[in-house]
Amino acid sequence: MAVERTFSILKPDATRRNLTGKINAKLEESGLRIVAQRRVQLTRTQAEGFYAVHKARPFFNDLCAFMISGPVVLQVLEGENAVAKYRDVMGATNPANAAPGTIRKEFAESIEANSVHGSDSLDNAAQEIAYFFSQCEIVG
Ligand code: ADP
Ligand code: MG
Repeated sequence: MAVERTFSILKPDATRRNLTGKINAKLEESGLRIVAQRRVQLTRTQAEGFYAVHKARPFFNDLCAFMISGPVVLQVLEGENAVAKYRDVMGATNPANAAPGTIRKEFAESIEANSVHGSDSLDNAAQEIAYFFSQCEIVG
């Protein structure tokens, strides 16, 4: 097992309902460490750039509108197998399919407003971290 870093976003539905502490507690309990964290209001351009891989999907415009509907918390998480571990802690994209105890099962409102983003591979994690954080903002 290797120590990895993954990229996380606490989405606008989570900040709106004041759930950032509860979600952070859950991911810290799993062994992940928050090694960078910044609360921001994303711009449309930033949201579209971040989700560019989904540009052709029917939900792209709604997703970008949702992601700029309120503040988000951008995070870098570190730990053993951090990428896969965080995907496990998050649960399935659609909260209806998420396993009990996962963040999305406990907190998500819908398939779109599903409280958290987490990178789906180590390569994407590196890319997504670099999109929002500079090296000196990450303190492991
Ligand atoms: P995940 O966040 O689990 O990696 P995807 O990368 O497939 O899921 O999708 C990115 C985000 O787009 C999801 O987290 C969710 O907010 C939104 N999304 C995905 N599928 C749908 C859908 N069918 N309808 C509306 N929004 C969706
Ligand atoms: Mg994804």
